[in-house]
Amino acid sequence: MNVNLKRLKGMWASSRNLLIIALLILAMSAAFIVFQTSEKSATIVDGEKTIEYTFRGERSIRDALLDNEISLGEMDEVSQPVTDILENGQEIRINRAREITVVADGKEYEFVTAQRQVDDIIRQLGLRLEELDMVQPSLEQEIGDDFLGEIKITRVVEEVVTAKQPVKYSKVTRNNQSLDKGVVKTVQSGKDGLRSVTEKVVYHDGEEFSRTVLEEKVEKEPVEEIQEVGTNVYIATSRGQTRFDMVMYVTATGYCSCSQCTGPGDGTVTASGARTKANHTIAASSQFSFGTEFYIPYFSKNSNRGIFEVEDRGGAIKGNRIDIYFNTHEEALKFGRRTLKVYVLD
Ligand SMILES: [Zn+2]
Repeated sequence: MNVNLKRLKGMWASSRNLLIIALLILAMSAAFIVFQTSEKSATIVDGEKTIEYTFRGERSIRDALLDNEISLGEMDEVSQPVTDILENGQEIRINRAREITVVADGKEYEFVTAQRQVDDIIRQLGLRLEELDMVQPSLEQEIGDDFLGEIKITRVVEEVVTAKQPVKYSKVTRNNQSLDKGVVKTVQSGKDGLRSVTEKVVYHDGEEFSRTVLEEKVEKEPVEEIQEVGTNVYIATSRGQTRFDMVMYVTATGYCSCSQCTGPGDGTVTASGARTKANHTIAASSQFSFGTEFYIPYFSKNSNRGIFEVEDRGGAIKGNRIDIYFNTHEEALKFGRRTLKVYVLD
């Protein structure tokens, strides 16, 4: 009895193991069948076209494309390797190659690519981008199939330049009471200074695009020009402190009443109608009306104490020229031609 019972127990144990194995195989087969027969789907995006693809079992991406009669051109690209096994719910994207124009360095590159992102396209073309270069559209941008423009690369170069520039001196004038009115004296001559200007110059494709001043430094201050303008309107004459209107330098010559000096007619009658008088009569341009008195320091020792009156005119007497009347031709010749300081009295 004991022996039989043991045998029975052993038999039961081994058949139970067999049963478990059999059940497992059954379950796996069922799972396999379910896997093989259950419907799965994937999305294939081919440009503008979207295909919902349903399949059963194990299909590679290549199989899926074949099933949908999608053929790939040489340059076309698929988002995943075509040998990959398609998973349920997966999206496959086909980028059809097309012609893209890239403008850079004065050239137009036309080439066929399936790339959509700008930086990928530039990389594929083999163009090197420097740090400051600008790209339009921007590098991260995806170019849609409706994009009709071109990709433009602008080469940007920055340069820092320092140039020396002169600083123009300024002019100041001061009144000087001890200088006669009409006299201008430069007491300090002006000198230009020097400035250094540092600028950042930006070039776009080799042409200057912008210029920004970074630093400006005065290396040498300019020296201002100082002029003194006379304001004194009084001159000491035999009449005491005499007020004058202006002081000027004139070219003075002598004349007499002879025909050589005054031509035909009575040389003793002046243009103003007055009779000529030595140490008194002078001819001046019409800017000085008849009766205007001139004080000429050169003649201050003469009987007239250097005070003359404009009474006459002369064909050659223009601007800063005067003619002084003498009694004789000899005296007039002796006087000759001199530059004299003249005060036009008020
Ligand atoms: Zn004469």
